[in-house]
This record gives sequence, structure tokens and C-alpha cells, in this order.
Amino acid sequence: MRESKDTKKKERLAASVMQHKLKGIMIIDLGGQILMVNDAFSKITGYPSHEVIGKDPTFLYSEREGSDLYKIMLETLYRCGKWQGEVWSRRKNGTVYPEWLSISGILDEEKQITHYVAIFSDITERKLSEERLVYLAHHDILTDLPNQRLMTERLTQAIKQAERKEKQLAFLSIDLDRFKQVNEAFGRPLGDELIITVANRLKSAVRDCDTISHLSGDVFAILLGESDEIEHTATIAQKILHLLSKPIHLDGHPIIISASIGISLYPSDGTDSRTLIGHADQAMSRVKNQGCNGYQFYSEEIGVRSLERIELKMAIRRALERNEFELYYQPKLDLKTGEITCLESLIRWRHPEKGLILPAAFIPMAEETNLIIPIGEWGLRAACEQARKWQDKGLPPLRIGVNFSPRQFQQENLVESVLSVLEETGLNASSLELEITESIAMDQVDKGIKTMNQLNQNGITLAIDDFGIGYSSLGYLRQFPIQTLKVDQSFIKNLTTNKDDAAITAAIISMAHNLNLEVIAEGVETKSELGFLQEHECDGVQGYYLSRPLPANLFEDFFQTGNYRALVTEE
Ligand code: C2E
Ligand code: MG
Ligand code: MG
Repeated sequence: MRESKDTKKKERLAASVMQHKLKGIMIIDLGGQILMVNDAFSKITGYPSHEVIGKDPTFLYSEREGSDLYKIMLETLYRCGKWQGEVWSRRKNGTVYPEWLSISGILDEEKQITHYVAIFSDITERKLSEERLVYLAHHDILTDLPNQRLMTERLTQAIKQAERKEKQLAFLSIDLDRFKQVNEAFGRPLGDELIITVANRLKSAVRDCDTISHLSGDVFAILLGESDEIEHTATIAQKILHLLSKPIHLDGHPIIISASIGISLYPSDGTDSRTLIGHADQAMSRVKNQGCNGYQFYSEEIGVRSLERIELKMAIRRALERNEFELYYQPKLDLKTGEITCLESLIRWRHPEKGLILPAAFIPMAEETNLIIPIGEWGLRAACEQARKWQDKGLPPLRIGVNFSPRQFQQENLVESVLSVLEETGLNASSLELEITESIAMDQVDKGIKTMNQLNQNGITLAIDDFGIGYSSLGYLRQFPIQTLKVDQSFIKNLTTNKDDAAITAAIISMAHNLNLEVIAEGVETKSELGFLQEHECDGVQGYYLSRPLPANLFEDFFQTGNYRALVTEE
């Protein structure tokens, strides 16, 4: 009686298990034949129960699994009485799907296995989302191209293959020129559109077996498969530059974009992915430094130079910590009064071993690495402090010019930081002049004008430095709230020998006066140059003829003697 109650209980339990809606269940006897399946089994596999009962479940096997898996499964069941894992099985309609399968033996009272129960769930959905995750982890969402991770994996694989087959590989590092400006001018969404267009153009430049990847922002890379000759690689680089040079229409505006491409070759430039990528990047930087829009193969010379650059960068950092920078001062002479009312501060690096280093040797590097920000801040503070000291000493008020490079001028909190230096050093805003170049003003016109206006409103004077070598557009200058124009020394140098330069200089002076700007000529070295400028009513001059840049104490001596006054009255 009791036994039959137990049996009934078990049967009910079994029945309720078999009713499981999501999990397919089949019960198999020791002979390996299916005894029973549930509805979910039929739903997942597509087989109604009457078609499978009495059969060996091997009809569910798919060739996507090797025979090894089934062998291991059976061995484990035999040894341990259970097995579980992921299996690809076949549905009645022939499709293959992934399932999570667990099989365990059902024991009788003597602990002997009488049957096996296999429970499985269809994990197609989960697999898809897993695959999607794997895909996303290896691709860039915007362009759908392989990302850095996948590119590195592919490069590593390609290197192994090329090594076996003794073939060459080429790796191209591609960086768009001036993309930041496009992004700022047109906004992110249109910037994204541009990147997608570039990705498509790159795709059309290479074969299917080559890998193009979008590494970040405006950086792409291409891995050219085996057996590529150098000439072939160069042709592809040229093709890319050509394809990119065609205008891209954004918001109705045709945008011209270009790129800088650096190329490294396996095995000559490196035999592992890191070295190849690094060397391609160095070659790419070389293109950028030489004015962008081109391609360049890596060479040892580039490697040495970039090592020097890294060393220079570290040395600049150390110099800042050790206070090795100094300011020299060069006066500007007012041609009408013969007085010195202005001077320019020019930075020097007193290197403990190499001696005095001029800005051209370190400012561009500082600019590239953002070290210009702390250097610039130091320079501004030191110049303001010195000007204030001279005022305290009773010297007549001198306006001090401080050079600002593009990155400094684009700083978010530029106005606040300049004002706070003025406050800390106690210098009047009217005693400070900032020298910026045309390109700064032109880079982001609206933002630039806003910053200039704020500086102006606070009483700071603005000068355009090196005028004439950049965009050379006086028309543009009209928009800028500036007070002074400094004519580049390259014009002054040839003033007395080159008629064009003389005519240009004269024209700049008169046009600038029409715009109510004060004109200063830079790099005046001779009496005849000074004479020409005086004749053409240039307002002021700066140059070796008056004085070289001097350390603060020597400038003071120079100033006190007053000898310079004779320069303008001399006949
Ligand atoms: P710049 O602002 O155009 O400065 C004028 C440069 O011409 C200075 O070179 C000066 O020494 C040189 N010079 C002056 N008179 C003559 C002359 O009669 N003949 C010739 N051949 N050269 C003359 P320096 O001091 O080597 O500075 C070069 C550039 O470095 C500067 O050009 C400026 O753009 C930049 N610079 C200098 N100091 C700083 C600084 O503190 N911060 C930033 N961001 N840039 C600086
Ligand atoms: Mg200057
Ligand atoms: Mg200049």
C-alpha cells in the first residue's frame, strides 16, 4: 500500500517535471533508447514525441560538434553518472542550435543507474547576445570596422603566418589632419559622418583580405596582407591620399580633408605587433611635422629622432622642475618719439650641460606635448613680475609683450588664468601685451574673437606676431579686436634688396593704419631698413640694430643710458 503511494508520488513528481515549459527533457534507457520526452522537447527540436520514442538520440547530433564531444560525454556519464555542457544540436528542420545540456543517471534503491534524464535549454538568444558582445568588444560602433584590439590580434596572427611563409607585411597608421577643427566647426554628429565617409573611402582603397581598423577619433590603421611589395604599399598610400582629397559634403559645405600616413614593414621594421605599430606611428608623426598630407615609410633615422624627442620631452619636464628657464628682453623703439615704451620677453633654456638654448629648439616640442601650458604660465608670471619690479624701481611704465602659442591660447580658462597672474604679481593689465600668431586667430575664429574680446575688455593689449607669413589677410584682421601688428622679419630682411618685399611692407603699414592698428617691424638689423620704415611711417621697430634680446639686468643698463634715442634722430 505504502509503496504504491510512493510510486504515485514519484509519478506525479515526474509528470510535473516533464511539464517544464522551457526546458526540453528526454528520458533514455540503459540501451540508449528514448523512453519519454516532454512538450518543450518537441517545441525546441521540432520532433513530436511519437517520432522519437524508441530511437537512439544520435539523430539530434550535429556535425558542428566533432565526434570527440559525444565520446567524452558518454565516457563521463559512464564514470560519474552525469555530464553537462554546451552542445550544438540539430532540429528536425535541419537547423543547428546551441543548447545547454545536462544529463544525469536516475538511480534505483541499490544505487544502480536505471535511466538517464537529459535536460536542455535552447540558448540561441543568449549565444547571440554573447556573440554580439564579442563583436562589440572587437569593433568600433561608429564605422563597424575592427577596433584596436581586433587589429592587434589580426596583426599578431598575420605576423605568425608571414613568418612561416617568409612573406612581408605592411602596417599603415593613418591620422586625419585638422579633424579637430572640423569637429569643432560642424559639431560631433557631422564629424561622425565625416569619419564614416573616410572609413568607406578607405574600404574602397584596399582588398577584402586587408584589415582596416578605426582605432580612435580620427585614427585609422590598415594591415596589408602578405606578399606586398614596397611599391604596392606606396601605391595604396597614394591611392588613400587621393581618395581622401576629394571633397566631403557636410551640411551642404564641401570639406577638404587630408591625412598623414606612416608605414612600417614586417620584418624589416619590426617582428612583433607593438614595434610595428609604434614605428608606423613614428613615421606618421614625421609626416605631421613636415606639414601633413603625405605618407612616409619608417626608417631608423625616424626612430632615432623620435627617441631624441622623447628625451627632449623628459628634459623639458626636468627643466621646469629645476627652474632652468630664463627670460630675455628685447626693446621696441617708438619711431616717432625715439622712446622705448614696450619690450618683448623671449624665453631661453639655460641647460646645465648644453648652455643657452633658443626657443625654436624646444617650444615646438613643448607645444606638441602640452608642456607649453606650464612653460607659458611660468613665462607669463616671470614677465609680469619683472615688469612690476621695474615699475617699483621707478623706471617709466613699460608694456611687456608675452608670446602665446596656439595651444596656450586655446586653453579653456585662459582669461581667468591671465587675470590671476596679473593680480598675483600686481601688474596693471594695461602693461601687458599678448603676442599671438595669425593662425591662432584663424583656427577657431568665433572662439578666438570671444577670448580676445574678454582680454581686451580687461585692458590687455593684443598683437598679431609674424604677420604676413600666414593667411596674410588684412580683411580678416578687421574682425579681430587687436591693437598691434608685428610685420614678420622675413619681409624686413629683404626690404632693401627685394622690391616686392618693400612694396608689401609699405602696403601692410598703410593698410594697418587704415584699420587703426599700430605697426611694429621685427628683425630690423640695419640703418637702411630703419630708414625705409621711418619713411613709410612705421610706428615702431624691434631688432638687433636697436638691441639684441638681453637678460633683465643688462636691459636695465641699456635702458638707463638712453643712447637709443639717437637712432631715430640720426641722419
Ligand atoms: P618672435 O615672437 O617672432 O620673436 C622674435 C624673434 O626674433 C626672437 O627669436 C628674437 O631673438 C629674434 N630677433 C629679434 N631681432 C632680430 C634681428 O634683428 N634679427 C634676427 N635674425 N632675429 C631677431 P627667439 O628669441 O629665438 O624666439 C623665437 C620665437 O620663439 C619667437 O618668435 C616666439 O614665437 C617664440 N617664443 C619666444 N619666447 C616665447 C615664450 O615665452 N612663449 C612662447 N609661447 N613662445 C616664445
Ligand atoms: Mg613675438
Ligand atoms: Mg615674430
